[in-house]
Amino acid sequence: ATDAMAQLDENGPQAMGLGYKHDATTVDNARYKSGQQCSNCVLFQGGSSEWGGCPLFTGKQVKATGWCSAYSAAG
Ligand code: SF4
Repeated sequence: ATDAMAQLDENGPQAMGLGYKHDATTVDNARYKSGQQCSNCVLFQGGSSEWGGCPLFTGKQVKATGWCSAYSAAG
């Protein structure tokens, strides 16, 4: 990607605070439901890209296959 934004560190405090993982299927969280991932979350700004911005993680990119506890279904 030409976007210079850094990828979010899933082991960093921001990510851990919201239970974020790059691979949604590895999430262990009561809120998680199968099929949910950043690419179908209303907050994902990456369109069809593998990585994209999320307003909850300013200046970082989250992965299309990722998930966090603030997930909100698009549409
Ligand atoms: Fe991904 Fe949505 Fe969480 Fe942002 S709010 S990290 S797009 S699941």
